Amino acid sequence: MAPDTDCLFCGIIAGKIAAKTIHQDDLVVAFEDINPQAPHHALICPRKHVPTLNEVTAEDEALIGHVVRVAAELARRQGVAEEGYRLVANCQRGAGQSVFHIHFHLLAGRPFTWPPG
Ligand code: AMP
Ligand code: ZN
Repeated sequence: MAPDTDCLFCGIIAGKIAAKTIHQDDLVVAFEDINPQAPHHALICPRKHVPTLNEVTAEDEALIGHVVRVAAELARRQGVAEEGYRLVANCQRGAGQSVFHIHFHLLAGRPFTWPPG
């Protein structure tokens, strides 16, 4: 899907909206969440505008796998890979999604409970 001019994360990916970027490559951009829910809270965003996980297709499989590898690499870089971290994607408003461009929350630096809220 083409970038969406009304999409906040397409704006960040294009550099039109400021964010604290911590990683970028051909497929994804990762930046710090503006309202962190843990000492480490980053968002890993595919450059491709896909509104929700429901629109992920077979051609996106490598992209989603790449997100997981980038998450693990960022966790290593932040020194939290061994203590643990959470990688979360909210799909649709009922699950808490508020920005409709898929992204994965990388949270670390505090204990996490299960089940999540
Ligand atoms: P979700 O609710 O799962 O769609 O996650 C959206 C996340 O984007 C929330 O954790 C927000 O705090 C975060 N967010 C919203 N606006 C910005 C922004 N301008 N820069 C960085 N993070 C943002
Ligand atoms: Zn977008």
